[in-house]
Amino acid sequence: MFTFSEIKMKRREMRPVRYHGFDMWLRARHGEKVQKIPLDAGSDCPNRDGTLGRGGCIFCNALGSGSGIGGSLSEQWNHWRRSFAQSDRLKHTRLFLGYLQAFTNTYGTADRLRILLDELEGLPGLVGVCVGTRPDCLDREKMSILAARSWPELWLELGVQSRHDATLARIRRGHGAEASEQAILLAAEYGVKVCAHLMAGLPGETGEDFLESVRWLANLPVSGVKLHGLYVCGGTDLETDWKAGNYIPLEQDEYALLAARALTLLPSRVVVHRLTGDPSPGELAAPDWALRKGETVRAIDAILHMNDWWQGCRADCPARNPWADIPAPR
Ligand code: SF4
Repeated sequence: MFTFSEIKMKRREMRPVRYHGFDMWLRARHGEKVQKIPLDAGSDCPNRDGTLGRGGCIFCNALGSGSGIGGSLSEQWNHWRRSFAQSDRLKHTRLFLGYLQAFTNTYGTADRLRILLDELEGLPGLVGVCVGTRPDCLDREKMSILAARSWPELWLELGVQSRHDATLARIRRGHGAEASEQAILLAAEYGVKVCAHLMAGLPGETGEDFLESVRWLANLPVSGVKLHGLYVCGGTDLETDWKAGNYIPLEQDEYALLAARALTLLPSRVVVHRLTGDPSPGELAAPDWALRKGETVRAIDAILHMNDWWQGCRADCPARNPWADIPAPR
């Protein structure tokens, strides 16, 4: 095995691409960069409003993964577009994907979901929408509302987190793995793409437990995944556990190795939306490395490179990296 500093030193030598990244996938479909815009639709969550519980998942803070930007959806849209226009990297971006990110966006009535999606129609540059939700807040009526949209991109971002019911109970999800499986199968029936979110380093789980969740997911009809190491936000019950020494987050190199091994198990058709979490500096309590997203992604790339692994090499494409002819971006 390599030390983490060796991995970081070698990262410049890494060629070619070794996994099916979302940015690359969007560029292939739209011919140019597509940028995600986080949106807060003022949604609630049954795990916080008293329906299932009041405290929420032990890692969820008051923002519920939201950006904290207020205003209507179109005001938030315009805020982010103005901010991108100031950025050297994004100022020429013309296409955007709305991400209903905060809390549980399919919670409530089917009409609420329909109205939310109507509000997004016609926003300048919109090519589609990602809807963040949990598996027990979906049904046939909501799936048909989602499936009826004609946007080129429509994704359900589904908080799955683990296949282990004991873990799901311990982190107070309020649903089991069976609910995730049913939601994924229902979405497939309606032709709605699912990006399943899984976390490594959950309390009580080993690395092998995480990889078992990845193997389980690889056998379900998901179109995408988002992986990250669990991080601790201020003001959460997880922070209390961490301060008491009852929870220890993964080290960056531990997570990078787990993420690289997870990629080898995922079929090549699965699009990798993200390999890191996205905490804001103000909310993060630990670990510090969770803010250094680029460094983590490069470490994962380096581990793939040095072991000559690629996505699917232990799944559907053991003989050859399907992206072997694509140079890695600098
Ligand atoms: S399901 Fe999502 S929004 Fe609800 S408590 Fe858990 S992390 Fe927070």
